[in-house]
Amino acid sequence: EAVAEIQQVTKVYQKSKLAPPVHALAGVDLVIPRGQYIAIMGPSGSGKSTMMNIIGCLDRPTSGKYLLDGEDVATMSDERLSKVRGKRLGFVFQAFNLIPQLSVQENVAVPLFYQGISPARRRELAAVALDKVQLAERMDHRPSELSGGQQQRVAIARALVNEPSILLADEPTGALDTKTGDAILEIFEELHNNGQTVVVITHDEEVAHHCERVVRLRDGLIDRDEAGGKSAAVA
Ligand code: ADP
Ligand code: ADP
Repeated sequence: EAVAEIQQVTKVYQKSKLAPPVHALAGVDLVIPRGQYIAIMGPSGSGKSTMMNIIGCLDRPTSGKYLLDGEDVATMSDERLSKVRGKRLGFVFQAFNLIPQLSVQENVAVPLFYQGISPARRRELAAVALDKVQLAERMDHRPSELSGGQQQRVAIARALVNEPSILLADEPTGALDTKTGDAILEIFEELHNNGQTVVVITHDEEVAHHCERVVRLRDGLIDRDEAGGKSAAVA
């Protein structure tokens, strides 16, 4: 079963009437089976950010279809799009973006705040998410008391707290040293082993060794679609 189906998706930017249009995505087809751990890579300007924005429902394609859990995102209203984004996507970025005044547990519960969930239930769900990244024992700490790798794990727990269809990470290891970055990639691997779909958008070749599938973009098209270091075929 596919969690995401991208069919002939284009994204065309036109900065001004006189500027030539830029085909950031030039007709991409990509099916992501539920539970896959996939990296989307490519040189600067190849369309990675645009792809991230489409997959993450931050933007709509210019043409083509994007089915997320079977529902076409391309034709959704803005209101529906932001609802879908909140419910079905979990985002992780290079910067951890944690709120310094809140505890780790409160940070993780932030996405639940506007959903009419009781405080007790929010704490419970945050604890479950922190357990998935092996940080349950740091629940009451402030972000500043944690290492960079631990802060990124808090950000991952926050992204997981809504049980998203896709965990979408944009350069998640970008601010971390190699060893700490590897630990983050191992967390993704474990989440994937437990059935979570994980999509990582990155320049970091190290990610290719940890994931199941590597899609390489070039000039807005898929240049290569190959097995990653942890694909079933290799293991
Ligand atoms: P990457 O993330 O791989 O560097 P992007 O998706 O950011 O690639 O960009 C793909 C192409 O689309 C580039 O040529 C870029 O300059 C162009 N582009 C991206 N966003 C915009 C925008 N908002 N307006 C105009 N051009 C854009
Ligand atoms: P990355 O580090 O992923 O390559 P970029 O620097 O290409 O990121 O893009 C960062 C953001 O700026 C993206 O959201 C992208 O859509 C936007 N962007 C990229 N190129 C342009 C451009 N030429 N004009 C306007 N916005 C752009």
